[in-house]
Amino acid sequence: MRKTKILCTLGPATESPEVLANLIAKGADVIRLNMSHASHDWVRTVYGRVREAAAASKREIAVLMDLTGPSIRTGDVEQPWQLQVGDTVEFRCKPDVPSTTAYSVTVNYPELGKDLKADDVIMVDGGMIQIKATEVSTLRVIGTVMTKGEMKSRRHINLPGVPVRLPPLTQKDYADLDLGVELGVDFFALSFAREPGHLQHLQLLLEQKQSKARVIAKIENQQAIDNIDALVEASGGIMIARGDLGSECPIEDLPLIQRQIVERCSYHGRKVIVATQMLESMIENPVPTRAEVTDIFNAVIEQVDCVMLSGETSVGRYPEKCVEVLDTVISRIEQKYPSGRFASDAPLKTNKHKTVKAAILLANSIPGSKLLVFTIKGVMAHLLAHQRPEFAPIFAFTPNLHVSRTLVTARGVNPFVLPFIEGQPEDSIRGALDLLRREKLIKHGDPLVILSDALYDGVNVDAILLREA
Ligand code: PGA
Ligand code: MN
Repeated sequence: MRKTKILCTLGPATESPEVLANLIAKGADVIRLNMSHASHDWVRTVYGRVREAAAASKREIAVLMDLTGPSIRTGDVEQPWQLQVGDTVEFRCKPDVPSTTAYSVTVNYPELGKDLKADDVIMVDGGMIQIKATEVSTLRVIGTVMTKGEMKSRRHINLPGVPVRLPPLTQKDYADLDLGVELGVDFFALSFAREPGHLQHLQLLLEQKQSKARVIAKIENQQAIDNIDALVEASGGIMIARGDLGSECPIEDLPLIQRQIVERCSYHGRKVIVATQMLESMIENPVPTRAEVTDIFNAVIEQVDCVMLSGETSVGRYPEKCVEVLDTVISRIEQKYPSGRFASDAPLKTNKHKTVKAAILLANSIPGSKLLVFTIKGVMAHLLAHQRPEFAPIFAFTPNLHVSRTLVTARGVNPFVLPFIEGQPEDSIRGALDLLRREKLIKHGDPLVILSDALYDGVNVDAILLREA
């Protein structure tokens, strides 16, 4: 039973019902809809297919809608430019600003000239082209090309270390959000989350729209790292978006940043997803590089909740193979190193935290034990996953379909939907044990540590039971 979960981005390579079913059969746990490359019609169609494929597979699958967020992009260029070192490029802050050089393009961010100063670096296309600002005014930014490259239309721009004043969401994001709420996605990821207020704004909006979806903050630049503790606390989970981070921060800092974010998520008890370039070479090739396999090892040893595939499954040539590789590599590492993360030294805030900690100590000290948790809102099960039991798998039972889907993303949790029999906790336990026996997930005599907060005489009582299957 693999503990680290696999998140796959859907795209042309995986949109067909057949490939989607295979992706799930091979181990995809979460499907990501990347709104930067998706029309509403497409999203409606594939969302239905995901739910159908999941139902057929009898596994819970979570769906994450990734909101594009405010990114800085260049406008159109008539022909791609072949930029050479030393060439002069002009970025015009508004469309009506006249051009003064041959290589001149507009940007969709009118504040560019206010936020930048001379000597700041403008990274185009993930850093493929680097341009150093030489003259900055409110109307235009003129710069010199430092690394040559081809520049096409509507390129993504990163401004390393420059705090930008973009709004948290764009008009497109609000429209996408409404679609996600209507369909019932389980998570929204907010790109370029920079301040906790951005996450609270989105969470509040979701509550107003009666959505129970959780908000994942994508950490993509220095501003976010500067606010990391507040962002982790305000979020329902964090995505380490190594693609943009790698352009926005010194590349040699990237592994340190990953480690730092994982530690902060561990401290605050939040989910953490490692994203981007996990199997980049497999977009073209049927086998991973040695470095990629070792990168997966690192994430598994850090005990992250999920690893993510982007282009590998959206447009790659071997999407199913990618999931297979992740599944086998992760399983192999987890077999050898079932535990490994530095134990969190966070204070145990509530009685629930203490109960969960005690249950984990029990499970850790009984070889072959399994954790069962009965949870209505999922709180107890998420806490259990965050405190990282050493080897015991977690079987979570909830009457709530959405809760079971959000639990799919939690490390080591196998969620099941099970109607609870009110006032009869023993009957619910019996139902759960029958289900696990049927699925061959437990066998006679297995030590079971059971956690519940069942209602006794109208009061919720946190309880730990120790039983044999
Ligand atoms: P993206 O985010 O794929 O939406 O850009 C992930 C990343 O930047 O790593
Ligand atoms: Mn990104």
